[in-house]
Amino acid sequence: MRRVIGVLGVLLPSLVLFTLGSVPSAAADKPKVVATFSILADLTAQVAGDHAIVAMLVGPDGDAHVFEPGPKDSAALAEADLLVANGLGFEPWLERLSEAAGFKGTLVIASEGITPLPAEQDEHADEAGHGHGAFDPHAFQDLANGQVYVANIAKGLAAIDPAHAAEFAANAQRLAAEMAELDARLKADFGAIPAERRRVLTSHDAFGYFSHAYGVEFLAIHGVSTEAEPSAQDLGKLIAQARAGSITAIFAENMANANLAETVSAESGIRVGGRLYADALSAADGPAPDYLALFRHNAGQLLDALR
Ligand SMILES: [Zn+2]
Repeated sequence: MRRVIGVLGVLLPSLVLFTLGSVPSAAADKPKVVATFSILADLTAQVAGDHAIVAMLVGPDGDAHVFEPGPKDSAALAEADLLVANGLGFEPWLERLSEAAGFKGTLVIASEGITPLPAEQDEHADEAGHGHGAFDPHAFQDLANGQVYVANIAKGLAAIDPAHAAEFAANAQRLAAEMAELDARLKADFGAIPAERRRVLTSHDAFGYFSHAYGVEFLAIHGVSTEAEPSAQDLGKLIAQARAGSITAIFAENMANANLAETVSAESGIRVGGRLYADALSAADGPAPDYLALFRHNAGQLLDALR
């Protein structure tokens, strides 16, 4: 049973077990955990088992880069015992939100301990520099990093609920073993495809870690953040590359506007191969309702297009 609850109206009802006002009394004494976005909420709920109430700020198909927290988010953080964040600049709004909320709980940075990849230099970064850190924040797009995430989450949960530490560690290890198995299979599957075919176009630069781990090259319309709009010149360059045959497939993303991908597709004659889940899960009845399902879905779509 899914233990993720929604704190935002934008969450689809199928994911919402309890609203904040109607948590059953049996759950009232469980620690309250807030995860910043859907992928972390899933990992946290799976590691916590029955021992925490997990809420999320940015829900399924939501875009954390351009998220604007509201009063409900602030209220959820104010009473949270644990906050699970990605770090690496993925949540540029988080520091201000947790200050405004008076958050007094424990903070877990799920990406702590991974080897960060540098962010691609973005020549049209906006003046405020929002979301354009030194590192690429999408570390969860490598299953080796996912294993670090669940270990960090287990440690964070143990810090607020030491009595269940062994259970959190066991849940994290079980998940990590599944991730390791899938990781090995994907490395073999992508490795069997000729290198010159492994080049795709996506909406934004969210697959740097995936590329690094599985040897698929991604060209992106947007930079590392979805905030900056591409120039006509950048778009023209991508269309020219697609026409020249150096792109095998084009993919839309679940949380980003698909119009530009459609434009490159129309101009180059390369079909949009499907939809990749970049920075968010799907709704519970979609193809990527949890982290491992997201990976299986994305890899399946890419392998179908590249083979
Ligand atoms: Zn992103």
